[in-house]
Amino acid sequence: MRYRSTTGKAPLTSLRGAVLRGLAPDGGLYMPAEIARHTPEELEEFRRLPFTEVCFRVVRPFATPDVPEEVLWQIVAEAVNFPVKLVSLSPALHILELFHGPTLAFKDFGARFMARLMGYFVRSESRQLTVLVATSGDTGSAVAHGFLAVPGIRVVILYPSKRISEAQEKQFTTLGQNITALEVSGTFDDCQRLVKQAFADEQLNQRAFLTSANSINIGRLLPQMFYHVAAYRQLPVASVPLIVAVPSGNFGNLTAGIFAKRIGLPVARFIAATNANDVVPQYLLSGEYHPRPAIATYSNAMDVGNPNNFPRLLDLCRNRIEYVRREIWGHGATDEETLQEMHAVWDRYRYVSDPHTAVGIHAWEAYRKEHPEPSQGLVLATAHPAKFADIVQKGIGITPPLPERLARYLQVPKLSVPMSSKYADFKRFLLAH
Ligand SMILES: *Cc1c(COP(=O)(O)O)cnc(C)c1O
Repeated sequence: MRYRSTTGKAPLTSLRGAVLRGLAPDGGLYMPAEIARHTPEELEEFRRLPFTEVCFRVVRPFATPDVPEEVLWQIVAEAVNFPVKLVSLSPALHILELFHGPTLAFKDFGARFMARLMGYFVRSESRQLTVLVATSGDTGSAVAHGFLAVPGIRVVILYPSKRISEAQEKQFTTLGQNITALEVSGTFDDCQRLVKQAFADEQLNQRAFLTSANSINIGRLLPQMFYHVAAYRQLPVASVPLIVAVPSGNFGNLTAGIFAKRIGLPVARFIAATNANDVVPQYLLSGEYHPRPAIATYSNAMDVGNPNNFPRLLDLCRNRIEYVRREIWGHGATDEETLQEMHAVWDRYRYVSDPHTAVGIHAWEAYRKEHPEPSQGLVLATAHPAKFADIVQKGIGITPPLPERLARYLQVPKLSVPMSSKYADFKRFLLAH
């Protein structure tokens, strides 16, 4: 598979080029040059074959010829070593739990796969690759765990001192090995600025081999097709259309859903479920796209005011609003509605949802009111409720217990390196280590 830029001004490249670069040289986002549909017979086989085999068949066309088949198989098997669980709350409402990986959020799929893919691509390099990530919480832990002990790669995570929860901090500052956490005396924006400056610094880039691991990287999106296949395998066969609600921030997850539809999975429509940062639902209503600064909400992993995958959504819909509307319906929930939905779901089904998943369920309910014809709803559950225990407590009066694999990190001392918010200090650190 060759990869092209959404802006169309960069040369085609290989998967290797797209993954190691992240952003295309013309500033666009890499897209597969074509997406082949699987035949109905192949899709039918997807229900019966072992899950690893199916994931391998899904991603193979995107990785050939860059990654030899036996290597790709190994990457898939190691990356997806935890279950995807479907919970049916009613015949018309299903929850796809994507949070059974090591950091209890769906980002484990993307981060674990991309880390191993990059690990393979740097094997033929003489230099060590440095992955830079600025995080306001969740991305840092998924990326750190994804890359932990991958040879040839070190990860430098920048996070704002005292501005993230202890549980979040401990998940990526206690690992050691090839993971370094820089505790920046500043804000998340300072962290992001330092990373951007590093990528723009030619002198630094000649001396260090740098890349980024945020969700503009196509290597994170490809494995997010896997759980749509997992849903397809587990959902009861129904003759009514399937509607998939995706709690969204940067819209990588929804983009991957459309990829999954393009390879042939039966999805009638997607719901862009956001919190009050609803620029995409607003765009669907008005036809005008107005990015704006993010505001803080209870579903903070979706506090994004200018979703970085939006150009990919447009590209997949031929840059025409009428096609985007056919593919995606949008809804934004307030914090109040998020709490009410958590409560309603607990009352009705005795199901504990985290605030991001509750935003998804709320959007599905809103969709149903406008579209009462029979359909089947699938809501992606993006985080384990214990990761947002304080909000869950607010919503339903219960504190979900922290699973052992998360609680463990709280006991371990953090190993972060203090860092000022001055670029010169950050650069000196990168060159010295
Ligand atoms: C990152 C994240 C999202 C948003 O996913 P995007 O791909 O950025 O749209 C939703 N929920 C949780 C829990 C997340 O961590």
